[in-house]
Amino acid sequence: MTLPGGACDCCDVCGRPFTAPYQVLTDGRRICYRCHETAVYDQAQAQLIYQQVGAILQQTMHLVLNIPTALILVGRDQLADVLRQMGRSAAQVTQTLGVYARHGRKRAIYAQSGLPRLLLLQVVAHEWGHAWQMENAPLLREPLLQEGFAEWIAYQVLLALGMETAAARMAARDDVYGRGLRHVLLLQQHVGQDGVLAWCRYAR
Ligand SMILES: [Zn+2]
Ligand SMILES: [Zn+2]
Repeated sequence: MTLPGGACDCCDVCGRPFTAPYQVLTDGRRICYRCHETAVYDQAQAQLIYQQVGAILQQTMHLVLNIPTALILVGRDQLADVLRQMGRSAAQVTQTLGVYARHGRKRAIYAQSGLPRLLLLQVVAHEWGHAWQMENAPLLREPLLQEGFAEWIAYQVLLALGMETAAARMAARDDVYGRGLRHVLLLQQHVGQDGVLAWCRYAR
């Protein structure tokens, strides 16, 4: 998952308008002070968020990962190394906040350390969506649909937690993530949640 190019005068994470000086991170994210205060640096804390995401997806959509997939909190440089090993572009290496990776039988979600809690939740849920895709929809290759589905999973998790503002902000993004999510949400209007999952399994 990479970053939104936010145009409104709002926090790039929670979507709330700025009411106080905001923090600009080196990669361009503008973060409100409330979000900045919740940065997660601790693996155990990240693990709780990962478990929460898994529990929500199991309870609300009956989704599980069958292959053990670890969550690993890494520094920016470590994440960049993982991405380079995966052959990602230079822009992706600098702007990516999390990634799902397979090395032979080992599967892991890498997420950047120091992200605000809500952003880490979004990143983890998005990458969880890719992990599910890899197990259940390995033929899905179209980037718009891959990213749209992963964003849709994160969107469902935010809604389950009552975070409508942050969810709406995801759907308003003007990039492959936002466009992909809107595509899948439109599909959901027609075929429902189960229909989206069935579509994903057979989409190319
Ligand atoms: Zn993605
Ligand atoms: Zn915020």
